[in-house]
Formats: sequence, C-alpha cells, structure tokens
Amino acid sequence: MKDMLRIAIDGPSGAGKSTIAKEVAKKLGIDYIDTGAMYRAVGYKMKRDGIAADDEAALRAMLDDTDIDFVRGDIILDGAVVNDVIRTSEISKMASVCSALLPVREKLVEIQRGMGSRKSVIMDGRDIATNVLKDAEYKFFLTASAAERAERRHKELCEKGETITFEAVLNDIEKRDHNDMTRKLNPLRKAEDAIEVDTTGLSIEEVVAFVLKEIR
Ligand code: C5P
Repeated sequence: MKDMLRIAIDGPSGAGKSTIAKEVAKKLGIDYIDTGAMYRAVGYKMKRDGIAADDEAALRAMLDDTDIDFVRGDIILDGAVVNDVIRTSEISKMASVCSALLPVREKLVEIQRGMGSRKSVIMDGRDIATNVLKDAEYKFFLTASAAERAERRHKELCEKGETITFEAVLNDIEKRDHNDMTRKLNPLRKAEDAIEVDTTGLSIEEVVAFVLKEIR
C-alpha cells in the first residue's frame, strides 16, 4: 500500500456508499469523509436561517460565516454536532437543492480538497473521482437499482421514526438522481478510471471485501 492513500467512492443516493466507506476506513485505519453530510449541513443551515437559494448575497455571507468539520466521525457545523438533524427527508431535498449552487460547491470542494491533501482518506460523494480528488489512488462507482436504494433508505428513515411511504422515498430518490445527474456543476457521473460496482443483491460484507481486494 502507498504512503498517502486517497480512495474516492461516488454513486447515487442509497447505493451504500457511506456504509461501505465507513467499514473500509475502519479496516484500513484511515479517515472517512462524508461529503454528502457537508451538503446536508449547508442545506440545514439555509433552512434554519431562512436563506433563499436565489439570494446569492445572503448565501455568500452565510457561507463566509460557516465552519464545517468532522471530529471522530461526527459532523460539526459551527461548533455543534448535527449528525441527526441533517438526516431527515426534508434536509435531503435541501442538500440536493444547495448542491447545485456555485458558492456552496466552491466552499465545500475547497474544504474537501484540504482534507484530502493532509492525510489518507476515503471520501464519498458524487464528484469525488471526477472533481474533488481527481488524482485519487483508487476510484469506485457504486450503483444499485432505484427500487433497492429506495428500500434501503425507507428502512433507514422508518427506523429513525419518520413516517413516510416507500413510494414517496422512491420518488425522492428518482428526483435527486435526476437533479444530481443533470446539474451543470460537477454532475454525478462515473469517472472513466473508476471501478463500477453494482451492489444490487450484494451484502455489505461482499462489497467491502471487493473494495479491499482491489486496494490491497
Ligand atoms: O450522499 P447524500 O445523500 O448524503 O448527499 C446529499 C446530497 O448532497 C445529494 O443529493 C447531492 O445532491 C449532494 N452531494 C453533491 N456532491 C457530493 C456529495 C453530495 O452534490 N460530493
């Protein structure tokens, strides 16, 4: 294994990126950076502070005054842990909206590149292999059918006590896929040199084993 190891994992919502990335990070003893959580944190702050997506001046002022970091796996927004409040279906939509805004992407990509330049990391998101860490040593593109991804997300939300139908989750996922793939700035797509893994029907252990086998 090389000294400095950067692993990029991209793919659509619910493909299992964060579960796999967390597990691989643990096995390799490196940091896991969840870039989706960073977009969620900004979406959460916009909602909380009533910042409209088309109010660029207010958005830039808010971003200048925003600090996002990870400490021992917790996402910290302006000094407070926001792990749970960013995981609702409402904030999923806000994250998708704010991720298409230039000032938001500029700010978060800069932070992400900084994180990836100092230490070995596994970073997951939509544009890691194609944009944030173009020179990552390993690149993976995780997919799964929309139905399976919606099923996983639905189970997750129900376990957290949210009342939402499977159809609503599937609809949200399809909408987010569309937004993520068609936006002008760093859309979701597989990097040419990324290894594609279709996780439909595969267990977490099987996908983790596949990723580790490629790296070791
Ligand atoms: O992965 P997760 O569902 O938590 O991401 C939330 C949203 O953040 C996504 O729907 C996507 O729009 C956005 N995102 C992004 N670029 C990334 C990571 C996430 O645009 N690198």
